[in-house]
Amino acid sequence: MPAAETPSVLIVGTGFGGIGMAIELKRAGLGNIVVLEKGDDIGGVWRENTYPGAGCDIPSPYYSFSFEQNPLWPMRFSLRADIQAYLKGAADKYGVTPHIRFNTEVTTAAFDEDRRLWRVETSTGAVYEARVFIPAVGQLSRPALPSIAGRDSFAGHAFHSAQWDHDYDLTGKRVAVIGTGASAIQFVPQIQPAVGRLTLFQRSAPYIAPKPDQVYRRWQHTLYRKVPQAQLTERAFFWGLCEFATVGLKGNPAITKIVDWLALAMRAKQIKDPALRAKLTPDYPAGCKRVLFASNYYPALARPNVHVETGSITEITPAGVRTADGVEHDVDAIIYATGFATTEFLGPMKVHGLSGRDLRDAWSTGARAYLGMTVPDFPNMFLMYGPNTNLGCGSIIYMLERQARYIRQAVQRLGTGLSYVDVRQEVADRFDEEVQRRLARSVWSRCGSWYRDASGRIATNWPGLVSEYHRRTKTVDMADYWVTR
Ligand code: NAP
Repeated sequence: MPAAETPSVLIVGTGFGGIGMAIELKRAGLGNIVVLEKGDDIGGVWRENTYPGAGCDIPSPYYSFSFEQNPLWPMRFSLRADIQAYLKGAADKYGVTPHIRFNTEVTTAAFDEDRRLWRVETSTGAVYEARVFIPAVGQLSRPALPSIAGRDSFAGHAFHSAQWDHDYDLTGKRVAVIGTGASAIQFVPQIQPAVGRLTLFQRSAPYIAPKPDQVYRRWQHTLYRKVPQAQLTERAFFWGLCEFATVGLKGNPAITKIVDWLALAMRAKQIKDPALRAKLTPDYPAGCKRVLFASNYYPALARPNVHVETGSITEITPAGVRTADGVEHDVDAIIYATGFATTEFLGPMKVHGLSGRDLRDAWSTGARAYLGMTVPDFPNMFLMYGPNTNLGCGSIIYMLERQARYIRQAVQRLGTGLSYVDVRQEVADRFDEEVQRRLARSVWSRCGSWYRDASGRIATNWPGLVSEYHRRTKTVDMADYWVTR
């Protein structure tokens, strides 16, 4: 039996995935870790998305590490600064921060078969080597600008919601917002009172349900501190609610109908103008695109300085945005709330596995990974928040913790004399067929959304309940892997 060793691990990214993974390894005594971060701070999407009103639409007791409950969340649905501070606090508490190398973006990662190491090149010129390579770069880290004709000809000021220009004063300006997803519905109510005129370009109307937000009172903070079970009960409630909702999203319209009613009732209550209400009524099944939660969005749209434009955009001109009816909407600024390159996963990073195989070739017909984590021919590489691990309802942190647990077990096995593990092609293929078969029955197959890639394949979402993911990732089954000693 070879002597036990601590395999070296290289993690990419300091969002909840990368930090959660590093904490899991540290807690297991596996401290041979380097974490590379392209930015200058911890936080992932919570560092990047600084638009006004940015926050989480999953309640904080659930959107937090299970082992690190925070009794002092200011609100049920926390804002980005509080979430980022929480994550930084967890990284400090568990001794992860000293392992991070900031301002270091991975350009290329290649598996060296002879030395059985991942060799990782970075933007700084520094090269890192490690036995285990864990990209934790998320699904929502690269802003996507729409390919609309004339986009670069606009003479005013333009930026993406994930790259908010805080130096540009919107006060009194004529502003176009393109997109009505989770980001837009959070910042539109914040900027509406300040701007002169807001034209909101809506390609499809989102389902919006009331957000049961609450500022936690002092007595609640005291209760959560003294009786942690009280906060865990709130966590369990939202976990259960999302599991119930997911039964609907998996293909039970009787359940998603509830969302339909909630959204309908809110529109009826908050939008008195029947023409505007008609514009804001979705024309696809509830849950197909992400259901959004906001109680202040519709009231902002009903204000006199807001116009909701549903005509399709044909062109961006130097003066503004032209729609199919020929109207040119003159504006001073355009804010693109057009989402992220969600289905490219590792994005611009070049990744090469056994025999130099390029990950882009392996994914030429769509990104896929066994349990969202391992890809045949890419040994000792484990993805966090990889393909088919996103949720229609639920906390991604719950999924990330399951992935961290699974990967930590694999790292421990590698410390017992194994050289590398490589998921068997037939195991990965069988898993992918099952996932796609089940997703075809889900509500997500019934409209276009960021869950699907250009071919229509649902590349992002997990097809089941989170409890199923918990069960299936609880223990690494070495029979699923080729093992090299
Ligand atoms: P998104 O949900 O992908 O929304 C993009 C919007 O842009 C959609 O309304 C889309 O219309 C529109 N769009 C895209 N290309 C367009 C074009 N060429 N012309 C006109 N409209 C166009 O992006 P997001 O709002 O940034 O949110 C992305 C994800 O980030 C969310 O779903 C969520 O998972 C996450 N997020 C979470 C929170 C949170 O509270 N947890 C907050 C913000 C973001 P169509 O719908 O017609 O495609």
